[in-house]
Amino acid sequence: MNNIKIKIAENAGFCFGVKRAIGLVEDALKNSKEQVYCWGDLIHNPVMIKNLEKKSLKIIDNLKDFKENSVFIVRSHGITLEDLNLIKTKTNNIIDTTCPFVKKAQNCAENFKKQGLQVIIVGDKNHVEVKSINSRTGNQAFIVNNPKDLDKIKNKLSRKSGIVCQTTQKNSKLEEIIASLKKLKVDFEVQNTICLDATKKQKTVSELGNEIDLIIVIGGFHSSNTTKLAEIGKSKKIKTFHIEKAKDISKKWFSDSVKVFLTAGASTHPNEIIKAKKIIKSLTF
Ligand code: SF4
Repeated sequence: MNNIKIKIAENAGFCFGVKRAIGLVEDALKNSKEQVYCWGDLIHNPVMIKNLEKKSLKIIDNLKDFKENSVFIVRSHGITLEDLNLIKTKTNNIIDTTCPFVKKAQNCAENFKKQGLQVIIVGDKNHVEVKSINSRTGNQAFIVNNPKDLDKIKNKLSRKSGIVCQTTQKNSKLEEIIASLKKLKVDFEVQNTICLDATKKQKTVSELGNEIDLIIVIGGFHSSNTTKLAEIGKSKKIKTFHIEKAKDISKKWFSDSVKVFLTAGASTHPNEIIKAKKIIKSLTF
């Protein structure tokens, strides 16, 4: 035993969208006579993916490996309209696990486009979710990841713009971009499509005070929402470590009386938090 104090984020781990996606895939694996395919990892959690593979889920990196008329899983991040239409030529058996928050972002972008607004997506242009949102605008949106990106497009913003956001972005980034658009005197409308789960997880980290010496964020290195939590921790000048699994915790980060905050991204199983707590509690000095 040691004197380390541990505070665990109430909202650490699996979000509603990830639980829903896993449930839909498990039902498909139970009920379908056909092979069930997922194009890319269903969620950013290698342990959960392995479990689903044991239950016969087939993860493919290339669509060429999809066997016609099998079951196709649309991931919680969504899919581009072009890819969805292509899949529809290969099977009618599509299970759509797109998270309702992602659907909302897609629909907002589509509505802005229909109203004749120039759509701006705040997010990472290489992320599959952002590509799926952009496809709802006919791939006509401008994608900005920071206020500097606005410099490249400011001369093209002659008509009113409609702003939507990748669901896992930081609220602070959206606020910065809105402030920059105001300075540019651009006419715009905003739909804050950052998901409630991501917002709550971010808030618990951004509201941490001086009582915390160390933040540990558990979740996939490719997970956008997890990475954002670690970024917020670092921006508060609190020593922050982003790890994929509880067993990656290192004794070197601790002293006997440190106060630790433990949180986890939306794809992280709550068991990892319990394991992390046990590992920390068992440290001796
Ligand atoms: S993090 Fe938010 S948007 Fe992403 S799957 Fe979870 S609830 Fe949906």
